[in-house]
Amino acid sequence: MIEPTKFLKELSDEGLFRALRNIECLPDGMARMADGREVVNLASNDYLGLAHHPAIISRMKDALGRYGAGAMASRLVTGTRDLHTQLEQELARMKHAEAALCFSAGYTTSVGVISSLVGKDDFVVMDKLSHASLIDGAKLSGATIRTFLHNNVASLDAKLAQIRAKFPHAGILVVTESVFSMDGDRAPLAEIVDIKNKWGAVLLVDEAHGFGVLGEYGAGLAEELGVSEGIEFQMGTLSKSAGLSGGYVATSRAWADTLINSARSFIYSTAPSPVMIAGALESLGIIRSDEGKKRREQVRLLAKRFSTFLGEASRPTSSIFPVVIGSNEDALAASQSLLEKGFLAPAIRFPTVPKGTARLRITLTAAHSIEQVDQLINLMK
Ligand SMILES: *Cc1c(COP(=O)(O)O)cnc(C)c1O
Repeated sequence: MIEPTKFLKELSDEGLFRALRNIECLPDGMARMADGREVVNLASNDYLGLAHHPAIISRMKDALGRYGAGAMASRLVTGTRDLHTQLEQELARMKHAEAALCFSAGYTTSVGVISSLVGKDDFVVMDKLSHASLIDGAKLSGATIRTFLHNNVASLDAKLAQIRAKFPHAGILVVTESVFSMDGDRAPLAEIVDIKNKWGAVLLVDEAHGFGVLGEYGAGLAEELGVSEGIEFQMGTLSKSAGLSGGYVATSRAWADTLINSARSFIYSTAPSPVMIAGALESLGIIRSDEGKKRREQVRLLAKRFSTFLGEASRPTSSIFPVVIGSNEDALAASQSLLEKGFLAPAIRFPTVPKGTARLRITLTAAHSIEQVDQLINLMK
């Protein structure tokens, strides 16, 4: 059993102790710290600035009056409202899939979906930098886990070849993110689709950081690349660009029905609150609309400006910029120094990122202004 005194001391010694702090996130890309000081918030995943959107808030207030505060039961019992069904239809439409299912969080989506798809005779082959929720789902499944080098299609091809040589009939699930959460780079999805087809594997792509930001209608990198139909499981979260909380997976009707009957985090958890789902319907409407396009345009503009400053002008758009520092102590010091100058960008450390690559993770959102980005650039100069 974990021994708190020893555990906490070891963490402190390694610069890995973390504590919660109260922060109020304001609508204009700012945050108010517990001492009342306002700083530019460079640590939010609300990429389109929708968390404070008046239309979303008003739709949620209406839903609260009409549907009540909670879902009162799990989806299979009495937790499914017309809202859940509508949201799932909308998600399926956006993702060019037959069906979609929503969960209470992206985390429980990853864990529930992966652990129900594969079992001990199967393989999960995942990008080395995959998110913790994907790793946890793979571990829980009992399948054999293999990793391939980050965004490296030759490495993926080699791993699949090795597995197929020995296990011609095993189920193989390939797992990757579309835009990587801590690096902001993009998976070569079109090539990955070709390779998994070649070896008879199925593919799960986590669009947590592509959804809302990429694609003409904001459905994500798969939409932008036109490869949605080639991906068996397009999962993601409503907790980032949608500004709310919740997770989803878009897939075929048969797979969705299978998950309804097998994904334990779907079956044994109370349905997402109808208030949240009503907010998600409004949020999706905005993401798909001209307003959503304008917000994506703003993110692109700010990202371009910042990546030009970093000397990475040709880097494809994402809202995530890693400033890799190295040691935990140095990353903490850099974060503290930025905070003193009015910018909030926490130090991201192991195990969120590999050892020795502690970093500041800077996110730019549609709620930020060019002036705020220029202030940051001037400071970093
Ligand atoms: C944030 C995140 C999740 C989890 O989503 P939540 O809705 O916050 O639980 C899953 N995958 C990736 C890649 C993420 O960044």
